Amino acid sequence: MFTPPTHAPLALQKPRVLLAVNNIEEDCKSSDEDLQFIVQTKGRLENEIITNPDIIIVQISTTKFAGFNPLSQSGVCLLDTFQIALLEEFRQSRIVDTAIVDGEAPSQIQLKEIKRLLELGLMQVVGEQTFLRKGQSQELTAWLHVTNDCNLGCDYCYIYKTPDPMELEQGQQAVEAVFRSAQTHNFPKVKLKYAGGEATLNYSLVLALHAYAQQLAKRYQLELDGVVLSNGIAISNRMIRDMQTYGLRLMISLDGVGEYHDRQRQFRNGRGSFAYVERTLDRLARHNFTPSINVTISNRNLDGLPDVIAYILDRKLPFSLNFYRENECSAAMTDLVYQEEKIIAAMKAAFAVIEQNLPPYSLLGTLVDRARLDAPHRYTCGVGRSYLVIDHKGGVAKCHMEIGQPVTDIRAADPLELVMSDQNGIQNLPVEEKEGCRDCAWRYWCTGGCPALTYRMTGRFDVKSPNCNIYKALFPELLRLEGLRLLKYGG
Ligand code: SF4
Ligand code: SF4
Repeated sequence: MFTPPTHAPLALQKPRVLLAVNNIEEDCKSSDEDLQFIVQTKGRLENEIITNPDIIIVQISTTKFAGFNPLSQSGVCLLDTFQIALLEEFRQSRIVDTAIVDGEAPSQIQLKEIKRLLELGLMQVVGEQTFLRKGQSQELTAWLHVTNDCNLGCDYCYIYKTPDPMELEQGQQAVEAVFRSAQTHNFPKVKLKYAGGEATLNYSLVLALHAYAQQLAKRYQLELDGVVLSNGIAISNRMIRDMQTYGLRLMISLDGVGEYHDRQRQFRNGRGSFAYVERTLDRLARHNFTPSINVTISNRNLDGLPDVIAYILDRKLPFSLNFYRENECSAAMTDLVYQEEKIIAAMKAAFAVIEQNLPPYSLLGTLVDRARLDAPHRYTCGVGRSYLVIDHKGGVAKCHMEIGQPVTDIRAADPLELVMSDQNGIQNLPVEEKEGCRDCAWRYWCTGGCPALTYRMTGRFDVKSPNCNIYKALFPELLRLEGLRLLKYGG
């Protein structure tokens, strides 16, 4: 619990907002809704002012604090004891001109800081209301399942693998279908995720489809992004050069260092794959090509989490952490299921490692599973809104975890419309429709977790995530980390 200081030094630490990194990649289509908080009145010093009752303050050192208003766009602000003292003074509303601060009328410095706290939304005018302006996703993302084959047999994988590749003609039709829907729904940008199975097993198709997508993007004047999702086992020098030539990005799955990775990412014969991934990371470094790392956390690799974070930070790689999601294929592997206390402890240990080697970019959107504390949103992901998953036979599903249950296929005039109107598969509800989430302070940053997981564990889409307690325990820690990061790189 935070105890406010009684005497505030006159240190003028400018509150700072976050910086985000935008090249982090994950399996899921993250939300990019462009949600805005609109405040009715602009706070002025002559108004009756109060400290915003919603703000969350986390102490990060003896004299520094991270402040966060969950109903504002300001992000995490770095505060000192002077500003904290002002926030405490204004827990009771006052008119500033006549306010007595710390026994005296406010000084010019205090007035300046009050103004700044108002601008940041940490203070507000009494009775002020905040409205949500709903945005629209700017990017249609499509998972292209270029093969149903894989050279690994990871225990948590949700794909029923077969040796079947996607054929060129099918792939081209899939790309055309994505662009058709993007045009119809006015998306300015298309992102293609080349996935499987293991996408590099059908690498010539990846390159052919991306070249084709580049033609279509030019023709329709749409922005294009392409990323290869890979297990990182067999990425040759030639493949890396091709990715650089084609402007493709790369995401690699890495779940631990050595045996911790091998415990859940093995070849079909049971042999671990870490050494192969490490060889690929070395190769990529020689080419100056930076992949994004995706870490899946289960009960099996929890203890190795601090080590893998240290390993990733040493290599200066962007990364994201995601919690294991039980699925039909993995349900029998009960040792993958994590306990709340254990995963919270492991995550805190990982945060301690990050604290020792803070990166220059914000980690608010990538450390706690599907939550994104870097941008407000109402939906956990793009399912049913801005995401298409196209299997190797041309079926179109709503989510990669539902790839076996297509809603339509690539011959449809507008596959996205059918995905949006589907009432049977995953229902991606806005956070206000989830029981338990409606009044939660974190609602527009957490949004209630992965709907596929919630349904699997509860049989409902309209309830909070089964990971809720874990998220609530970690969010303040995440704010603290961001505060420390701002302190390190502040200026
Ligand atoms: S899942 Fe929990 S932490 Fe997340 S929005 Fe819902 S109630 Fe809040
Ligand atoms: S439903 Fe879950 S697994 Fe599917 S895209 Fe959304 S968050 Fe990811």
